[in-house]
Amino acid sequence: MDRREALGWLSAGGLGLLSPAARAAQETSTAATRGLPPLKITDIKTILTAPNRIRLVIVKVMTSEPGLYGIGCATFTQRARVVQTALDQYLKPFLIGRDVDQIEDIWQSSYVSSYWRNGPVLFNAMSGVDMALWDIKGKRASMPLYQLLGGKCRFGAALYAHVNGRSIKEVEDNARAAMAKGYRHVRVQIAIPGLSTYGTQVADANQPARHEMSSPTEPKEIWEPGPYLRTVPRLFEHLRTTLGEEVEMLHDVHERITPAQAVSLCKELERYHPFFIEDPLPPEEKDHFHLIRQHSTVPIAMGELFNSQQEYLPLIAGRLIDFIRIHISQIGGLSPARKVAALCEFFGVKTAWHGPGDASPVAHAAQLALELASPNFGIHEGYVFPAVTRDVFPGTPEVKNGYLYAHEAPGLGIDIDEKLAAKYPVCDDPPFDFRWGMTRRRDGTVIRP
Ligand SMILES: [Mg+2]
Repeated sequence: MDRREALGWLSAGGLGLLSPAARAAQETSTAATRGLPPLKITDIKTILTAPNRIRLVIVKVMTSEPGLYGIGCATFTQRARVVQTALDQYLKPFLIGRDVDQIEDIWQSSYVSSYWRNGPVLFNAMSGVDMALWDIKGKRASMPLYQLLGGKCRFGAALYAHVNGRSIKEVEDNARAAMAKGYRHVRVQIAIPGLSTYGTQVADANQPARHEMSSPTEPKEIWEPGPYLRTVPRLFEHLRTTLGEEVEMLHDVHERITPAQAVSLCKELERYHPFFIEDPLPPEEKDHFHLIRQHSTVPIAMGELFNSQQEYLPLIAGRLIDFIRIHISQIGGLSPARKVAALCEFFGVKTAWHGPGDASPVAHAAQLALELASPNFGIHEGYVFPAVTRDVFPGTPEVKNGYLYAHEAPGLGIDIDEKLAAKYPVCDDPPFDFRWGMTRRRDGTVIRP
């Protein structure tokens, strides 16, 4: 925060110094929650909607108190229908009748309810229920969720802006545009001519269209690491020289290079002091993070593909990463995420939860509640939802001057307009996007991801 914002926040009571009227309202609402009878889960509804053409899966948990419900994010956008089935056919009958206050017990029993555990389908389904139960608990307490998690450590969550371009100059121009909007952190990605480069939304005119390619020796999306590895240090050198020292720069490798290449890239970027370098290696090669640590001081962010604690625990406990990038619904929701955040605190790891457009506004609201209350918050992935999505999700957290702000309503502070959501059905033709699993080397070898 800058000094002026910090002072304004403090004078407005940001550290819990409530006005007399606000204190009286809080005391009344707290008293009202005492002695309430237990509530049961009466129904669980799965809502699929795609207001921004991104398949979102939202869970609504109804309770035995008329009008009281919670919502959660269960978005596994690549396989939305499978999560819907897991919820409607399996978790819903398993959980109806359970006590809504027993969030942890519901999580633990759901975790073993199909015997085989972990995985994006079960965990996303569980996440939808888990976030909804925290939403309900906050509403019962008449408190924003961050209060139940310990209260505010900061007034808002700093965001990073997604910045890309077809040339170094275009990246610079787009970074300046983001900085003019108040962003102090920019994730910079550059298209490599002739190659399908992660993180750039600009098509290369020389790249054949997908339908024009059929032979295994003419892969549909070609990627080669060499030109990329030679371009990114030049991008950083240019941006650090032209943008100055105030802005923080981030970059996502997206796992496409070998361990030796990752070490080399991190060493080259070290002199530009990046905020973090993300996913230099895939989860399958997590044992090689020792190599990067031995050769470079570049802060490392890792983890959007993680599912189970067996994957992320060694990297955190081994002090091999600096930012945890977990996709909260992918590990089962807010309950496990708050434990990961607490674990990270004791190993010097900050949170940078995965938050592109396929983390719904509900997921961003849940992340924000945790970020406001976590001393080891690092950065929030900035995704500016279009007006149509914000209309479907009233209470979507506000972006202002490079920060994300919570609404002070009880619970997650966000809702879903089901009638409006129904106007944006998910597309089943095709039933999923074909982007993943299509990127290949020139000889046809598939690469991750
Ligand atoms: Mg990433």
